[in-house]
Amino acid sequence: MGLRNVRELGDEILRKKSKPVKEMTPRLSALIDDMFETMYAAEGVGLAAPQVGVLKRIVVMDVSEGRDEPIVMINPEILEMEGEQTGPEGCLSVPGKHAEVKRAQKVKVKALDREMQPFELEGENLLARCIQHETDHLEGIMYVDVKTGPLLDNAEEEEYAEEDGNGETSGE
Ligand SMILES: [Zn+2]
Repeated sequence: MGLRNVRELGDEILRKKSKPVKEMTPRLSALIDDMFETMYAAEGVGLAAPQVGVLKRIVVMDVSEGRDEPIVMINPEILEMEGEQTGPEGCLSVPGKHAEVKRAQKVKVKALDREMQPFELEGENLLARCIQHETDHLEGIMYVDVKTGPLLDNAEEEEYAEEDGNGETSGE
């Protein structure tokens, strides 16, 4: 296994609702490994299974600077949302683009880990944004549906990077 092909906007699989995972299998475990590999290779902070063509409720994320804090969420459900943040957001399924998106500042989510054990996670700022973005993917929702500003080319994102000294799409 290894890198998976990332589906892009226009591919109808991205618009379908993903199904809950009932049990962990070697096949799904390999999928999770591949999703991490694919996400890290593309320098993304999150990836949802439908983005690699699998309609299962599985998300991988890593918003750490060291790229060494992998999080798997299976069957995630957002329990609480609080506050508001607006910032630039991108998606591996919409390469080379970004747009301003308004999201909750803080979220609490429950999910299963890859051993299918339940856990809860609270995230703020970029992690909160990522959780909302990825759980949307499981419903067939893309950030371009909920964006609050125009879709821009990433060349313009360089300006953000220079302004706040942070190349990531959501700096606050
Ligand atoms: Zn995305």
